[in-house]
Amino acid sequence: MIPLMSTPSLVDRARTGRPVDPPDPADAAWLVERVVGWYDTAARDLPWRRPGTTAWGVLVSEVMLQQTPVARVTPVYEEWLRRWPEPGHLAREPAGEAIRAWGRLGYPRRALRLHECATVIEQRYGGVVPRDVADLLTLPGIGAYTARAVAAFAYGAREPVVDTNVRRLVARAWRGRADGGAATTAADLTRVAALLPTEPTRAARASAALMELGALVCIARQPACPRCPLAQDCAWLRAGRPEAAEPRVGQRYAGTDRQARGVLLALCRDNPDGVAARRLVSAWPDPVQARRALTGLLNDGLVVRVGRGRYGLPGFEGERTTSPPAPAPRAVASRGDTTRGARPLPSVR
Ligand code: SF4
Repeated sequence: MIPLMSTPSLVDRARTGRPVDPPDPADAAWLVERVVGWYDTAARDLPWRRPGTTAWGVLVSEVMLQQTPVARVTPVYEEWLRRWPEPGHLAREPAGEAIRAWGRLGYPRRALRLHECATVIEQRYGGVVPRDVADLLTLPGIGAYTARAVAAFAYGAREPVVDTNVRRLVARAWRGRADGGAATTAADLTRVAALLPTEPTRAARASAALMELGALVCIARQPACPRCPLAQDCAWLRAGRPEAAEPRVGQRYAGTDRQARGVLLALCRDNPDGVAARRLVSAWPDPVQARRALTGLLNDGLVVRVGRGRYGLPGFEGERTTSPPAPAPRAVASRGDTTRGARPLPSVR
């Protein structure tokens, strides 16, 4: 049972005319205390949260988790980090190996971007994941969310980490709205920043706690309000759970070009010597759509021509190459390191 502090509710504050958006820092303290208290007992034991996770591990996990559920990410993440514990290990491999290891996580361009990202980190940053958001944003495939997540969870920085789950949670608890809108805005960052404690490591843990509550309890369709630490003061509950202004539209997958691309890419992944174009096109029931999918894969660099009329993963074009030898093992940078061998920061999540 989570003890609830006696505080004026957000709705009460709104009725008195006090602004609640962005959140009042006085409200932020009690909200964060409750959410972090809940997180202390309810957080999942996930591999990227364990002590000793490197900044590279945090970055890889955040990229994988962007559009794929935890259960599917976990085994791929663990194999990825076992094989490529530092960016340099991945940078020395052909890009096709990253696509192959990506397996069926979906949205495989992320694998290509991670490979490019590893190369830039190795060449420009000496193999150390940068710690500043501005530097992180220069890396291939690293957007506003991932840059802040790495800065917060790897380096304990005070940065608002705002994903869909956090936006929905804050929209409901603070603003009385059913969801957080289609995309993260500057106002979302301001709102969440106002909720965070001033002490950076504590702020990073609060960010992890908000994300976890949004992922496990304040879920989109049927939030588990009876076990939510914010239920006593949730503005959305008090307002009678008003509907979203625009109903959610589920994304179709079956029969889409995305599914066709996935089928063709899986064939290439399973055939290291490449696949004949005719076989690729016949792997999908609609030949026009199959050709469109193949063209898209070629344009994205996920598939390349490996011989006359044959296609495969990049890095094996023409005469097949073997994987270069793995670099000599080096000391693995711990969470918070900016130089290898530095003392690790305490875990923030
Ligand atoms: S009480 Fe329900 S709607 Fe409000 S924040 Fe908690 S889970 Fe979400």
